[in-house]
Amino acid sequence: MLGPEHLLIWDQAALARAWNRPILLARGFAGVPSSEATGWPVGERDAYLLAVHRAGFGDRLALLASCPACKEPASFDVSITALLTQTTAQVWPLTISHNGMELTCHRPSTTDLAQSWSNDAALPEARRRLCRACIVAHRADGKPIAVDDLDEPAIERASAVLSEADPLSDIRFALTCPACEKAWEALFDPPHMLWRALDAWARTSLNDVRELARAYGWSESEILAMHPSRRQFYLDAVS
Ligand SMILES: [Zn+2]
Repeated sequence: MLGPEHLLIWDQAALARAWNRPILLARGFAGVPSSEATGWPVGERDAYLLAVHRAGFGDRLALLASCPACKEPASFDVSITALLTQTTAQVWPLTISHNGMELTCHRPSTTDLAQSWSNDAALPEARRRLCRACIVAHRADGKPIAVDDLDEPAIERASAVLSEADPLSDIRFALTCPACEKAWEALFDPPHMLWRALDAWARTSLNDVRELARAYGWSESEILAMHPSRRQFYLDAVS
């Protein structure tokens, strides 16, 4: 059951910039220091946040996407339990061979993601930046080459292999527009979904506090400590 301690997490995350919010959510819910939260692999972190979401708000996620061609809305349901089965027993770092080059990649971490995030970068560019951040060794014909000198197909190949090896770090859903039948992939961002649910819950809770404090003079801590069914009883009595 959600309680006053979760409002403290909301306090911290509400004032955060979007790129920092997943770190604050991971830190707040897992009770770990920032240094540990930033080093957490994205796939592990998001598996943890999905489990938090399921425990606090239920297993079913009602999602809404918009067709990139005609803007028709497409709604669909997702089970968190089904998502959490998408794990692999990958050994890290992994080595990728491509056109005579070998790229050694570590598992994408929260730090890699934060460093590659940019307000103005389109999604493909953001994914390429994340991929570059994860490449720790590279050779062409046995000689070291700079990451910036890797060609686009090499980065694309590394990005695809990383996604396959760590599926929860890059969750996408294949959708077809119900109006124009365009097929596309919608990205799913577990920290963002958890934030939306936590934000809605916090605002409802604080509105309850406002109404009950005004009607009965109780303090915020007294109202937040109340069982939800009892709080609802008093709300019904004043409405
Ligand atoms: Zn469409």
